[in-house]
Amino acid sequence: MLSLDQIVERLTEIVGARFVSTNPIDKINYQHTLAYGAYKALPDVIVRVESDHEGRHVVPEILRFANEHKIPIVAKGGVGMGISSPLRGGILLDMLGMDKIIEVNPTLHYAIAEGGASVYSIHYALRRHGLMLPNYGTYGSAVVIGAMVSKGGIGYGMTRYGWIADLVIGLEVVLADGSIVRLGALANQETEFGPFQKWVHIPDLLGLFTLSAGSLGIISKVCLRAIEGRREWLHDYCYTFRRDQLENVQRAMLQLVKGEIVYDIHFTDRWQYYWPMEEGLYNKAAIPDDAWFFLKTIIWAREQDELSYKEKRMRSIYQQQGGHEVEEIVQKAMGEKPQQHGLHGWPDYHIMGPDGWCSAIVRHAGMFAVTSKMYPISFLKEMYDLDEAAKRECGLWNPEHSPQHDSYVTRDLAVKEEYFVFYNPYDDDDLARLRRWMGKVQEFSNRRGVVWTAPTLSTKGSYPYERLGNAYDWVKQIKQLLDPNNILNPGALS
Ligand SMILES: Cc1cc2nc3c(=O)[nH]c(=O)nc-3n(C[C@H](O)[C@H](O)[C@H](O)COP(=O)(O)OP(=O)(O)OC[C@H]3O[C@@H](n4cnc5c(N)ncnc54)[C@H](O)[C@@H]3O)c2cc1C
Repeated sequence: MLSLDQIVERLTEIVGARFVSTNPIDKINYQHTLAYGAYKALPDVIVRVESDHEGRHVVPEILRFANEHKIPIVAKGGVGMGISSPLRGGILLDMLGMDKIIEVNPTLHYAIAEGGASVYSIHYALRRHGLMLPNYGTYGSAVVIGAMVSKGGIGYGMTRYGWIADLVIGLEVVLADGSIVRLGALANQETEFGPFQKWVHIPDLLGLFTLSAGSLGIISKVCLRAIEGRREWLHDYCYTFRRDQLENVQRAMLQLVKGEIVYDIHFTDRWQYYWPMEEGLYNKAAIPDDAWFFLKTIIWAREQDELSYKEKRMRSIYQQQGGHEVEEIVQKAMGEKPQQHGLHGWPDYHIMGPDGWCSAIVRHAGMFAVTSKMYPISFLKEMYDLDEAAKRECGLWNPEHSPQHDSYVTRDLAVKEEYFVFYNPYDDDDLARLRRWMGKVQEFSNRRGVVWTAPTLSTKGSYPYERLGNAYDWVKQIKQLLDPNNILNPGALS
């Protein structure tokens, strides 16, 4: 086994002294995630990789070295939620220098970006060609595309177009032994046609890397399907429902998704607006007192005829189910607001920052914790009721804990549910309440067959994996085949 000094020496030879650090301050800074303080694991050494303008990089050399000496290695993207914490120490591989947008193809509607390119920069590059990625999250410039494939990234637009992984048509991956494999459209890259579709004449392997948490290979390139898009094609609406109308909400969602009428539905509850209303940021009088559920809805329409048709169908479904249209939320919490700031005229749903929807809440309620999981729309009522009961039992159903829901509705007729609780991270009693509630959510969710996004063994425990039966056994065998020394994010998947 090599000593840390020997490891540092060899890594310095590969990337240069400027890109290797064992400084404790650097290690602590790289540990900061959205999961505030929940992950304490530190790497032994941080290595940054940068590609040059020709796209050359040294990821294969680093992996070959780590593999030869059985050193754990974890890819690190942006701000993160904790799943790139190096549970067994070793190397933390900072991917942010692999940030080039290699190609935008306006004829065939695809973009190729390096694994460390921010999703934000991909959106920006596409816009300049009148294109868009029909999935944008609330992370601003904080997260990178390789990570979003690996952790199951989602965003606005998924009601019509699905996960970010659903837009991936090609991947280039560096395996543990340093070999490079090109999959899907990128397997065609060296040909005269170039990349053009996900399916090539071998079985599809792209999905192996989705939800893999960097434990099967390091994604060096991603090829994504884009669509034509203009800001003026996106139209915002908000319908509210009372607390006793959750079954109606469910029915409206099912009809809207099945009918392929809307581009996005975002499901929130009144807790999200409680503090903004108290602060006077939102006009309380413009929001019905009994409005409990808020369905922020976006229609995507190229021209007036298409808009009129979709609007008519959407309105008729919401009205039939007893929904009430509320303009105040459209103006204050949807796409119009960022336009006032000249953000290229595009919706930009920051959760933090001066206009972020979380900011007013954080001012009153502290730090937030969030669960992240998927279940069928038809179980929304049952799941919401269970969550409310759990929060009440744990003393969290109050403005001080702002126990809101903030969820995406997906084209798979599912809800990508985010249950929030705000808490005081310096108060042990509050932490105990939070943990108790999280345990209850895991219990009722796992039993019913929930699908976790950004899962790892360390965050979710073994049950969600074991319940997949021999499918999980297969994944472990594939991991063994691709990474026999278990160097890639060990402990995340197996
Ligand atoms: C303000 C904010 C808002 C957010 N909003 C959303 C949202 O709307 N939708 C959403 O989906 N998420 C959202 N997130 C969560 C975000 O998706 C996670 O933080 C996620 O972990 C993003 O990845 P990252 O770039 O931060 O990288 P990391 O957390 O460092 O990486 C995530 C995983 O991918 C692996 N990985 C990283 N790069 C590679 C690579 N090149 N090859 C292989 N594996 C790799 C890592 O090892 C890790 O397991 C938000 C986060 C923030 C900070």
